[in-house]
Amino acid sequence: MNSVKLLSGNAYSLWRVSMEPLLILDAKGNIQDCNIVAKDCLPLKKGISLLDIVQEKSDLQHALQNSGDQEDPRVIDLLTIVIDNMEIRTRAQIISLQDSASHNAPCFIVSLNQNSPELESLEIAAKLNDQRVENLRDNLTIVTKKLLEKTLQLAEQKNKVSTIINGMGEGLIGCDDNGAIIHINQAALNLFDLSEQEIIGASFAEYFSELTKYIEYHPGSSMLVEQKIFDVRYNVKDLRISVSPIFDEEEQRNDGFVLIVQDRTEQAELDRMRSDLISIVSHELRSPLTSIKGYLDLMISGDLGVFPLEMKSYIDIISSNTNRLATLIDDMLDLSRIESGKLNMSFGKVEIKYLCDLVFLTMKPQAEKKKLKFSLDVEEGLAISGDIDRMQQALTNLVSNAIKYTPEEGSVIIHAIRTKEFITISVKDSGFGISNDNQNRLFQKFFRIKNEKTRNIGGTGLGLCITKSIVEAHDGKIIVDSEEGQGSNFILEIPAYHS
Ligand code: ADP
Repeated sequence: MNSVKLLSGNAYSLWRVSMEPLLILDAKGNIQDCNIVAKDCLPLKKGISLLDIVQEKSDLQHALQNSGDQEDPRVIDLLTIVIDNMEIRTRAQIISLQDSASHNAPCFIVSLNQNSPELESLEIAAKLNDQRVENLRDNLTIVTKKLLEKTLQLAEQKNKVSTIINGMGEGLIGCDDNGAIIHINQAALNLFDLSEQEIIGASFAEYFSELTKYIEYHPGSSMLVEQKIFDVRYNVKDLRISVSPIFDEEEQRNDGFVLIVQDRTEQAELDRMRSDLISIVSHELRSPLTSIKGYLDLMISGDLGVFPLEMKSYIDIISSNTNRLATLIDDMLDLSRIESGKLNMSFGKVEIKYLCDLVFLTMKPQAEKKKLKFSLDVEEGLAISGDIDRMQQALTNLVSNAIKYTPEEGSVIIHAIRTKEFITISVKDSGFGISNDNQNRLFQKFFRIKNEKTRNIGGTGLGLCITKSIVEAHDGKIIVDSEEGQGSNFILEIPAYHS
């Protein structure tokens, strides 16, 4: 039986779009058709008998009897439909539908949700669920797409990273939390003459036992260890090795370490040769210069008679240049001694007051010449363990610089205090100051700042490099606090004397 035929065109359209679940049943209760809502919110379909799935069978049977004495609509206040073990209670209204044209057996339209909150909420829940499923499906599509993009990006990045690592000139070794080698690049394999098969998964300590003492690593600890750089002679090679921990930000713990190994064998050989050359040349120059200086001093002393004024001014120029040359040669000799580890030092108790007074009195004439406010502020009773001559040299370098690079009528202060376990000596000036860029290069050999203000000031560019080496030989460090145009403060921090 066709529902379109049973209902005329407009009635059929209304029947289809009605918001109530509507069924067409034959006299035996078989479902002939369901409208859209009935299909959506109740899994009812054509062919099954409503009588089979309702509990109040006799009520329904009674309502479906087409005897003339029954009035339309026939109402069943409670109809319990059981679908998939779920009971849905609803109210039903039944109207008979006579197929007058064909005089077929009667049919019925059953409306199921009249005042039935259970059915309504079921319908809403079904719709909400549909909506949720749809949203989920949309989200899932977006997430899948993003995941795919991310995976592709990661693969691309991984490719790039491994190309970079393998193309690096330096060797790279990566170890996991247990000290097992998990990555080694080609340069490291060549450097240590190893093959990837033998080394991956092996213990770092087993293969590089001589290096382990340099590696400070606390597996799994949350303590952040700083990157460390050290020079080592290993298998007749001079290596510079930098060790950095791999820190897992999420877990806040150390999760392995990475070594970058640089082969400096050739460079170290060149450095040694250059150092030897400087040392030999300086020695050879020092002897004739000492003799020149001796004769000059004799001439200046007046013991050889009084020279004409013009000649005296020439002798002064020769003397000042000889002194400059002597300073340069002394600095170069010191540097080559420092570099070859041959800077002899004899350690003893160095009284800081005595040291500062000595430097202050030596440099006072130069400061006065420039009309500087030159002062000393030193706490009593301070001492370090050190070499008095080398410490004097280091402090004199700093004070000499402060005087040189401060314009006339400026100020230079030497200050010394004790801070915890350290003695802090600072030389503060109101001079030209040093830009951040230049501060980074200040302690390099022969580095000098060249600008309008410093152009005519003499120097070798070795003073600060030597000073730093001397301070480090005293287990101390040198810090610069400076700003261009605002003066400079050079601070030495050296462990205090322990008897
Ligand atoms: P130099 O013999 O040239 O003084 P140094 O190594 O002692 O060599 O100093 C390196 C450079 O650092 C100097 O040429 C100068 O430009 C800069 N410098 C050092 N000390 C100061 C300072 N107190 N104020 C400004 N510039 C300074």
